[in-house]
Amino acid sequence: MKDLGHELTDARLAELLECDDNDFAPYAAAARRTLASHAGSKCYLRALIEMGNVCAKDCLYCGIRRSNRHAVRYMLDDDAIISAVRASLAAGYRSIVLQGGEQCSDSFTLRIERLLDKISRLSPDGGPAVTLSLGEQSLSTYLRWRQAGARRYLLRIESSSRHLYSRIHPADPLHSFDRRLEALMSLREADYQVGTGVMIGLPGQTAAHLAADIRFMQRMDIDMCGMGPYMEHRHTPLYSLRAAIPPPAERLRLSLRMVALLRLVMPDINIAATTAMQAIDPNAREEALRMGANVIMPNMTPQQAKADYALYENKPLDENLPGTTLSLCDRICSTGLVAAPQDDGTSRHYSKRKASQPPVTG
Ligand code: SF4
Repeated sequence: MKDLGHELTDARLAELLECDDNDFAPYAAAARRTLASHAGSKCYLRALIEMGNVCAKDCLYCGIRRSNRHAVRYMLDDDAIISAVRASLAAGYRSIVLQGGEQCSDSFTLRIERLLDKISRLSPDGGPAVTLSLGEQSLSTYLRWRQAGARRYLLRIESSSRHLYSRIHPADPLHSFDRRLEALMSLREADYQVGTGVMIGLPGQTAAHLAADIRFMQRMDIDMCGMGPYMEHRHTPLYSLRAAIPPPAERLRLSLRMVALLRLVMPDINIAATTAMQAIDPNAREEALRMGANVIMPNMTPQQAKADYALYENKPLDENLPGTTLSLCDRICSTGLVAAPQDDGTSRHYSKRKASQPPVTG
């Protein structure tokens, strides 16, 4: 099983997504060994703060899409966000994720810049490591936020197939596949640790599409991945195609296999055990950690806002209520990984890439 990642052709990846569990078991075990040998035995924790569900976009699968009149809109003010960051620090987390709907304006850019500055002053060592997940922005905006202290950025491609992408987004320039690709490349140019990911179990999606998604992430040389099952929301256009998607257990099974296969192909990146997996099975994130994932994002959003940030239905809401941090660490330890909330969890892939770049002179 040495160098297994190099032996996986596209056809073999697709085959492995569909084979029976016994045939897949050696690959799951190899993914676990690959994690230990290339990325270590720590599970990093990133406190997730869902800062607002106001979004300029209308993605056909998303519960907070602009046209969903049923969504209860909110935007946390700076004090509420800082208070959630303080609560995350008090709970022992040294890494946070600020996530929200996409907004592109000078005032929004400036607001995030100021927030990053405030967060950096929360502790003498420069505050927690910040990951942003605020959609497609211009290179200059990404550069400003990077300059203000953000280190990582998550922007999911959702599907690397142009055709599938066009089926789950409106046909207009705001939702173009090329615009998304360009944003991902701008993030790289702005020197972020770049994360992307896909939805698994979309209508019309095949194992070949998923194998191509793995290749896409490899080609883009990403540092982090957050992917999980497509979860329906009744107030979205894509809900009308729900008869064409695999049952939840199958979507979860595919998602776990995608984690294992991506670990084999990209041994030293960070891979998240995502909440969407947990929405199908309360123990799914632990299962993902056993298949090669090494990041969990406990949700530290204030409770009411957490419910309103409903990208999909049946989102788990009960985590991080008082007293649950310890049990989260216990659950991680039960997988054999070490829970590392104090570690900012820089992707080894990124560190190696930076170390191999020639020093800037002059
Ligand atoms: S998926 Fe993201 S960009 Fe699309 S509507 Fe939802 S929050 Fe907005």
